[in-house]
Amino acid sequence: MSEQSAAELRIVEPTLFELSRAGRRGYRVPEERTAGRHPHGIEPRFLRREPADLPENGELSVLRHYTRLSTLNHHIEREMYPLGSCTMKYNPKMAEVAADLAGFRDLHPATPEDLTQGALELLVDLSERLARVTGMHAVSLQPAAGAQGELTCLFMARKYFRDRGEERHKVVVPDSAHGTNPASASFAGFQTVEVASNERGEVDVEKLREAVDGDTAVVMLTLPNTLGLFESGIREIERIVHDAGALFYMDGANFNAIVGILRPGDVPFDFLHLNLHKTFATPHGGGGPGSGPIGASEALAPYLPGPVPSRRADGTFFLDDDRPRSVGRVHSCLGNFGILVRAYTYLLFHGSDGLREISEGAVLGANYLMSRLRRAFELPYDRPCLHEFVISGSRQKAGGVSTMDMAKRLLDFGFHPPTVYFPLIVDEAMMVEPTESENVETLDRFADAMLEIAREAETSPDVVKTAPHTTPVGRLDEADANRRPNLCWGGRCG
Ligand SMILES: *Cc1c(COP(=O)(O)O)cnc(C)c1O
Repeated sequence: MSEQSAAELRIVEPTLFELSRAGRRGYRVPEERTAGRHPHGIEPRFLRREPADLPENGELSVLRHYTRLSTLNHHIEREMYPLGSCTMKYNPKMAEVAADLAGFRDLHPATPEDLTQGALELLVDLSERLARVTGMHAVSLQPAAGAQGELTCLFMARKYFRDRGEERHKVVVPDSAHGTNPASASFAGFQTVEVASNERGEVDVEKLREAVDGDTAVVMLTLPNTLGLFESGIREIERIVHDAGALFYMDGANFNAIVGILRPGDVPFDFLHLNLHKTFATPHGGGGPGSGPIGASEALAPYLPGPVPSRRADGTFFLDDDRPRSVGRVHSCLGNFGILVRAYTYLLFHGSDGLREISEGAVLGANYLMSRLRRAFELPYDRPCLHEFVISGSRQKAGGVSTMDMAKRLLDFGFHPPTVYFPLIVDEAMMVEPTESENVETLDRFADAMLEIAREAETSPDVVKTAPHTTPVGRLDEADANRRPNLCWGGRCG
């Protein structure tokens, strides 16, 4: 944060450092508990030698401080967060409660199998449920993010072809794909071949046909694609891929648009990743832990990471490490367990009917918003969308107001902006994903704000170009704010 923000904080309310008075305490240790013992009941050898330079405050001041801080940043429990592709849906408290159960929360990853039967059962049951909703033969929960899921699958592909005595060097990726796709491909030692989209925002099937040959290991397809569209050529693409002996990969990060409706294993895709932190509770973003499980067909299942939580015939659970063709571990434990508990809870309380409703709600909300916004904004791909859609600020840009200006102005209305300038194939892009969490009144308020900003761009462009006006900090250097945050008060840590 900049100095400017520190100054703002001081105006709003005194900080804990300013409120501090020597001797103020937020706790009390009863006399009878410490009588005849060491002060605070702590042995001297555990006491620090010099007192810490910390503010001294009562509990209420501390609570108010943190509650106030929580309103300085945007978050889903304040207001809508339509950050396209990131799926900032509401994370139900039920999922948090389950993840916080002591038996899950306090479990040490190295606890022996006979003491972790419940946790292993959860992992087995979750992977079986995910296998069912995706139609895949088996699922591994180890990868800690979508990108790690992609990378693991590409390692699996490499090993699979080596075992068959084939060397294949190419991975084909559409130009609208998430940047992690080509990054994973080159990290796994493949050459990336990009395929252009057509004017409908889909993969150009004829260009794909030209790009795929006997040297192609994998074709990665994002479904729904990054413009929020279904690839209508999917049957033909599947045939092209498999006729060339290549593997068909689905980037299923945005499975929340098709879960309960389409099973990727029926297409068939050979393998895929899901983002539990987009589709099954746990919002994405903020740098928190994620989870990117991968599913594989019967032919690829032996290559999944090990050890694999498994069920014995007698109903007990164990870690199966006897998997000679596995690519090995990709996580030091068995995955980000807390995220897996949240996803499991989410799956249990929605059931399979509920999963379909999630997709329908996400798709309906996105189409509703798109139809309200199209009056004021350019719609580069004018057709029904799935869970998100892309509009362009090119009309406003021609009048001198950029997409970035409008995104900043949205903060004044209390909304988080949509994803901007992505995907790269759309000029002045704004990618809006309302998610199924939002009701129609909220969608309307958001649409009203966007339409008002479009009007301002014409009538009073300077208001938009100098936004935001109401936030604690203005336009930061976003890279610096992330990479070199100054988290110290008044230069206390130098
Ligand atoms: C979010 C996303 C990813 C990457 O997932 P991470 O968990 O951030 O690594 C990959 N592909 C698509 C389409 C995505 O939306």
